[in-house]
Amino acid sequence: MARCRVCGAPAVICYPESRLCLCRDHFLEHFESKVERTLRRYRLVREGGFVLAAVSGGKDSAALLGVLSRLSSRLGFRLAAVHIDLGIGEYSRRSREAAVRLARELGVPLAVIDLRELLGLGVPELAVKARRPPCSVCGLVKRYLTNAAGVEACADAVALGHNADDLAVYALKSFLTQDLEAIPKLGPGTESIPGLAVGRIRPLYLASEKESFLYAYLSGLPFNHEECPHASRRLLEFILKEHLASLESRRPGLRTQFLAKLAKRLNDYPKPEGEPRPCRHCGLLSWGECSFCRLTRRILGEPMGPKAREYVRAKLEEAGAVMCRG
Ligand code: SF4
Ligand code: ZN
Ligand code: ZN
Repeated sequence: MARCRVCGAPAVICYPESRLCLCRDHFLEHFESKVERTLRRYRLVREGGFVLAAVSGGKDSAALLGVLSRLSSRLGFRLAAVHIDLGIGEYSRRSREAAVRLARELGVPLAVIDLRELLGLGVPELAVKARRPPCSVCGLVKRYLTNAAGVEACADAVALGHNADDLAVYALKSFLTQDLEAIPKLGPGTESIPGLAVGRIRPLYLASEKESFLYAYLSGLPFNHEECPHASRRLLEFILKEHLASLESRRPGLRTQFLAKLAKRLNDYPKPEGEPRPCRHCGLLSWGECSFCRLTRRILGEPMGPKAREYVRAKLEEAGAVMCRG
């Protein structure tokens, strides 16, 4: 049986690239220092700053909120969380329950944004009406509402729970499809554009999915173990994930080396042309009309961005998750 390199107790994880094996307690410590190094190295948080964590109710967001709540006092930033209930039946009900329990146990203020309460429809019905795959509508709605929440909360950044496995897949997919403009957005952090978009940070940038799961599980954090019913094994992302896992098993450490190198070269990739402008309906980031206002205008006959911003702000205020001055 593998033993912890630090104390000799039975190991819960071994890193083949460094031949490091760790027991539960030393793994938890190791994970927290890894995330702290990521936050410091890429300057993702500042002392006195305010971070709003997007919590889906799954394992990655549990690890994210758990580790950020431990690091927030050490690094001197304030933390709150936001959960979006996507209205996907039982899956969303359980994810919401897990997010609420998680935030309560960690003592982090949580605002819950309920898509059905806001639009009268959940992701499955929106997808049918828009004649688009559920994941495409879901991604659009999540991006819009987390950005709206970050702007309305006056947060320095919204923290996302993407781990290294996810990010390597997104980057590889962008190369394969030559969607090179997407690559600069996949780094450890993006800058805020005042009034239009909040910066996004990825504290788990260099942490694997396995580490993220183990951290949440061994810390006893609540999370929804189920997969969304719309997750499909036929998607290119899923296929790439399997191939990358097999490459990683033959070349341990490849994924994080790739991401660490990519983070240094993000400026070499093209950026969208033209200046971003406020959406003519809701005022958030767009190139004229934002995709959320366009989608809701087509489906519901009214661009719902302005109402969404009002609704999100009210939920954040109710939860005590706003830090606007004046
Ligand atoms: Fe949304 Fe698709 Fe993920 Fe389900 S699998 S939560 S529909 S993006
Ligand atoms: Zn140990
Ligand atoms: Zn808009």
